[in-house]
Amino acid sequence: MKKLAEVLKDWEAVIGLEVHTELTTLETKMFCDCKLSHDDPPNTNVCPVCLGMPGALPVPNEKAIESIVMAGLATNCEIQRHSMFYRKHYFYPDMAKNFQTTQGPVAFCMHGHLDLEVSGEGAKERPDNTGVEKNSDGSYTAPIRILRIHMEEDAAKMVHVGGEEGRITAATESLVDYNRCGTPLIELVTEPDLRTPEEARLFMEKLRETFLTLGISDCSLENGSMRCDGNISLRRRGETRLGTKTEMKNINSFKSLHDALEYEICRQAEVLEEGGIVYQETRHWEPSHKRTVVMRVKETADDYRLFPDPDLAPFDLTDEFIDHCQARIPELPDAKRDRYIASYGIKRSDAAQIAGDPTRAAEFEAAVQVAGDKVAETVAKVMVNLVPSYETLSANQIGSIASLLAEDAITFAQAREVLDAVQESGEDPAAYVDAHGMRQSTDTDALAAIVDEVLGRCVDQVQQYHDGNKKVLGYLVGQCMKAAKGTGNPKAFNKMLSEKLEA
Ligand code: ADP
Ligand code: MG
Ligand code: ZN
Repeated sequence: MKKLAEVLKDWEAVIGLEVHTELTTLETKMFCDCKLSHDDPPNTNVCPVCLGMPGALPVPNEKAIESIVMAGLATNCEIQRHSMFYRKHYFYPDMAKNFQTTQGPVAFCMHGHLDLEVSGEGAKERPDNTGVEKNSDGSYTAPIRILRIHMEEDAAKMVHVGGEEGRITAATESLVDYNRCGTPLIELVTEPDLRTPEEARLFMEKLRETFLTLGISDCSLENGSMRCDGNISLRRRGETRLGTKTEMKNINSFKSLHDALEYEICRQAEVLEEGGIVYQETRHWEPSHKRTVVMRVKETADDYRLFPDPDLAPFDLTDEFIDHCQARIPELPDAKRDRYIASYGIKRSDAAQIAGDPTRAAEFEAAVQVAGDKVAETVAKVMVNLVPSYETLSANQIGSIASLLAEDAITFAQAREVLDAVQESGEDPAAYVDAHGMRQSTDTDALAAIVDEVLGRCVDQVQQYHDGNKKVLGYLVGQCMKAAKGTGNPKAFNKMLSEKLEA
């Protein structure tokens, strides 16, 4: 198969995502007051409604409607005041009612969009002059339209026993756990506006950051509370009609989403270039083999016999309700990122990384409170480069380590050593540094004396430096550090040595 870059020169990839998110932070199910359980024993959180007993009547969960309206407002959707629930029929043991309650042509949220910022290596996947303007550093912004976000309910969990990898093939028994049945689920469908695997990955990431910030779900791809199907078709560059798409399932990480789309783009290109046709089918991503395989040919909408649910009255959302949802939306990641850049002058990628994770953003802001606004940039570096390796750092510790780094009192390597030592005890990094004599001198006279001593002693290395072997500088810095017994600052030594050698 050809490589992605090769394929995308001749072909345009057209990608649309369908993203399901369980509203895991709610307390009860969508149409009954059964508890939302995550690890309770199987079939303990069930009742006549979610088990589909005849005559049981559903009552919509208002908090779930609040969550979906917040999701819609945060993704620039138009909130529909009038919408209703439909029944989507199918027969399978994971839904005892034999239909899933979902929404029809009008969803609570319609016609939104998110703007994607694509930069770095990933931006290279999109060839130049293909619909977006690229900046001088190769980065670009792609507006991605959202068709709709509708409300529905999750099905029960099936456990296939005896087969390989829990798959149904070769299983000897299949078990059903109805605890998950009736869990509030929102499905977001994008327009087919994504053009590269990287754009799809970033879109999914941005959606996750947004929903996490709203607090409507724990958004775990790994545990399946956030799931994504990738639709993909190809067309020759310049062609305006859409090609036939395939739909990919079993994508449970950002990497899988990227790799599955990359594989499928290359596979379709090969089929088309050999004169074959792409069939509209659902395919299963196999991460271990890095390939997609056919699951089933596409069912059509008619098979579901979709019609309005007579047990559920149509909705009339009021302005007050929508205002109430709007008021509950906290500062969103993009706004937070822009505020960090404007108030602290932090590097854009660092600011975006911190702002995207509400827990980290709160930690960052608390640490800046401790260390002071002037040190915010170093706090950001600490948040991005050090904090992820530790589990239990407090805002005080993060603020303190950032202050030490900002004063050049310790090196980055020493910062790790200090954090390793204090992460569990909760000790203050500054106190630890002083107690262990790690604080580095910035007394230039003392350092200059050491530099002169080392240069006088290491005649051979100095000659090598002048002969063009600049790498020997590292050795000289090491000699200075040794002479200073670790209290010197390598950055300062490096600067002073270079100055003297180049003089
Ligand atoms: P289906 O009825 O098969 O579920 P939809 O029309 O509902 O298809 O679209 C599902 C997703 O597939 C949407 O995200 C949409 O943007 C995307 N999509 C639709 N047509 C194409 C196409 N030809 N190529 C790629 N993606 C597509
Ligand atoms: Mg679909
Ligand atoms: Zn129930």
